[in-house]
Amino acid sequence: MLDFAEDFLDCDCQSNPHCGHPEEKFVSYLLDLRAQGLGPEAIVDVMSDDYLVYAYPGDVLSFLDDGIRTLEAAEQLADVDGQQEQAGAIRRRRKNLSG
Ligand SMILES: [Zn+2]
Repeated sequence: MLDFAEDFLDCDCQSNPHCGHPEEKFVSYLLDLRAQGLGPEAIVDVMSDDYLVYAYPGDVLSFLDDGIRTLEAAEQLADVDGQQEQAGAIRRRRKNLSG
């Protein structure tokens, strides 16, 4: 079993845990599982195996939707900003997630 606090709440920011990094790390953990092809219910299974935390598959699904929307926004920003390489990397990541 992995340690939830150690993996997600370990940053050195003064404002930790209100700095936003714990959420970012947790979202990226979920997005990685999704990118491996897991559906919401399988993600909940892995999550409870790894960390003994439980979430509703519906919550995970809306979490992932939010994540994908965040990536879309980041991609558009990078496009507007002329950062083609970064936009491309984000686009690939997003395509992985949308399955
Ligand atoms: Zn932080």
